[in-house]
Amino acid sequence: MSEAPARRLRQLGDVPVSQLRNVGEKRVAALASLGIENVFDLLTLYPRRYIDRTKRVDLSDLTVGEEAAVFGEVTAISARRTRQGRAMVEASLTDESGSFKVVFFNQAWRERQLPIGVQALFFGKVSDYRGQRQMTNPVVDVIVGASGDERDASKVGRVVAIYPASGKAGLTSWEIGGFIEESLRRAGPLLDPVPTSVLSRLDLVDRTASFWGIHLPEDIAQVPPARRRLAFDEFLRLQLLLALRRRRLEESSAGIRHPITEGDLDVLPGSLYDESSSLVRRFLANHRFELTGAQRRVLAEIAHDLASPMPMHRLLQGDVGSGKTVVALTALLASIDGGRQGALMAPTEVLAEQHLASLRRDLAGLEIADSTVLGGVRPLSIQLLTGRVRVKDRQAVLEGLRAGTVDIVVGTHALLSDELRFRALGVIVIDEQHRFGVEQRAALRDKGRERSDEPADPDLLVMTATPIPRTAAMVVFGDLDRSVLDEMPEGRRAIATEWSQTPMEIAACWQKVRDEVAAGRRAYVICPLVEDSDRVEATSAVQERTRLALEELRGLALGLLHGQMKGTEKDEVMAQFRAGEIDVLVATVVIEVGVDVPEASVIVVEDAWRFGLAQLHQLRGRVGRSDLQSYCFLLGAAPSDEAAARLQALVDSNDGFALAEIDLDLRGEGTLLGSRQRGRSDLRLASLRRDEDLLIAARDVASSMVRRNELAPDGPMADELRLFVDDEEADYLFKS
Ligand code: ADP
Ligand code: MG
Repeated sequence: MSEAPARRLRQLGDVPVSQLRNVGEKRVAALASLGIENVFDLLTLYPRRYIDRTKRVDLSDLTVGEEAAVFGEVTAISARRTRQGRAMVEASLTDESGSFKVVFFNQAWRERQLPIGVQALFFGKVSDYRGQRQMTNPVVDVIVGASGDERDASKVGRVVAIYPASGKAGLTSWEIGGFIEESLRRAGPLLDPVPTSVLSRLDLVDRTASFWGIHLPEDIAQVPPARRRLAFDEFLRLQLLLALRRRRLEESSAGIRHPITEGDLDVLPGSLYDESSSLVRRFLANHRFELTGAQRRVLAEIAHDLASPMPMHRLLQGDVGSGKTVVALTALLASIDGGRQGALMAPTEVLAEQHLASLRRDLAGLEIADSTVLGGVRPLSIQLLTGRVRVKDRQAVLEGLRAGTVDIVVGTHALLSDELRFRALGVIVIDEQHRFGVEQRAALRDKGRERSDEPADPDLLVMTATPIPRTAAMVVFGDLDRSVLDEMPEGRRAIATEWSQTPMEIAACWQKVRDEVAAGRRAYVICPLVEDSDRVEATSAVQERTRLALEELRGLALGLLHGQMKGTEKDEVMAQFRAGEIDVLVATVVIEVGVDVPEASVIVVEDAWRFGLAQLHQLRGRVGRSDLQSYCFLLGAAPSDEAAARLQALVDSNDGFALAEIDLDLRGEGTLLGSRQRGRSDLRLASLRRDEDLLIAARDVASSMVRRNELAPDGPMADELRLFVDDEEADYLFKS
């Protein structure tokens, strides 16, 4: 018998499920509805749990009051209505040891799901009904359908993997397990693309063992090492792709050496400077405040990137209020010091305009050489470009950018428009990154070079106030370097956060708003989030403002801000609020990011449970932006334990990073990674929380493989990565 060569994963991706025994048209369609088209898809559908038949709980020794998973065959099933008219389905089960009853209310379909002969796993709490042990509304996994031949097969293997079977697709866990077993047997040994030396150093099992161990373990103890290896592979593929992308960018890049040194950052406010000093020095010498230690450290990292010939791709993370703006400004000025321009992109028009105002304020008085006048100088020109700027003004800005007479342009995604050209774009800053997709970031980076007369790649700084745990950042922003502002400007006080549920607590909240306004401060009231409807949300904000004006906040000047208002109306309201003509701003989440009104000292969030933890933290960050003691009130009861945990976490902590970790725990990782990449590259087994060590190991292995050129374009690893990217990207990444 000749030895078959070990198979690559990609070869399994080329085998359609229709080649499996017993998989006809109907099952092909059923599998397709689960996103499974080929054998690779099938093998990466991992079990949800296992029944260890060596240590199964017998029906005869279930204890009342305990949660248990029991496996049994349906021997009788009946449906009727209770006296209250509820549908009630009763099933009797047996195993070798005894019998047992399960009861379902309002789930009439269970009668069809569980015909006599079906074997299933029931998970729930054991109760006692008139001396009989039973389960009410348990979770059910059908393992074996009612037809006989399948039942014989169920005797094979002592640990049975339970797949996320789908009633909708009409596939039982047992059928799926059968397809997987056949696939594994027919595939034979699998080629392992990871060197044995790496595997033994990291104590990882080989690839063949990992797939067998996760799907067909002989012993439950084989599952954890199998899972570990498969999780490692998920991380490794991801990190390899990131490392390859990064290398390509670096190879193809023509960066700019901006004229900035670390010494430029040592300038303190009030220091003397002469007219020939750089803008960065003059700016810091004139600035309102001294940089925090964290701001200095981060700026030194940025200055290093700016001065190097490699284009910067850096993520700056800093909690709300940590002072990211001054960092961005310094980077933009370094670009102008080199005779180039800067662009600052914000996610909303309100924010773009706010940035424009604060840049103009902070940069007032700075002058640069005016090349059109011999020996002349002119003030820095900072201009706005959003969808709202009028055509004539817009034209002027576009011309100024082309000619180089506009130094900094601040805008929204309007900055991505194709008509934009720069004389020489040196630095791009993107604020509040979470609103921008990865694609937009790439578009901006790619266009940077094409858009300038100067053939060079601008340096890119991405800023985010959404604290991302370190591990998550390695995955989501793995192609960026990372700087963290982990220190707040001095004098900030923790925001006092209260979760107000009872009428008395809520009354106290509104009283606080009145007190603060009486003391000359301002307040935000955030109206409930309405899923997917700006319009309905706007209506509810309008109503809430009217209600508050008549009731709790009678006599105060209330303003309104929502997404359906015209841009100019929004500006006007924001200006009035800033100026103190409006005491209380009733708003939807449009104010979520970045808005900076230091006199605002109270924020009330209605129906707070509807907001995510990160979003609530962002909202809370609208206050506490000066040395005033500020307050945040979260209104309303929580409908679930998870929501209660979220609100309590906010009460307990002001630390965005700590909250981000909690959020990751509460929500799982799906949401975080959700929009990251499509399809197969999702982390299915790997967990950022549990497998941090594997992630770090995978990153190290990936970067050393890429650095040492160990990925032959036609080798097994590159081949495997092709499963996760489209052809065009593969050609780009693997071309030699
Ligand atoms: P964010 O990181 O949320 O964008 P900002 O840059 O808007 O924060 O800064 C928040 C507030 O703190 C602003 O009013 C800003 O002027 C002020 N600030 C920033 N850095 C310092 C500092 N080093 N010392 C004192 N105040 C500062
Ligand atoms: Mg900001």
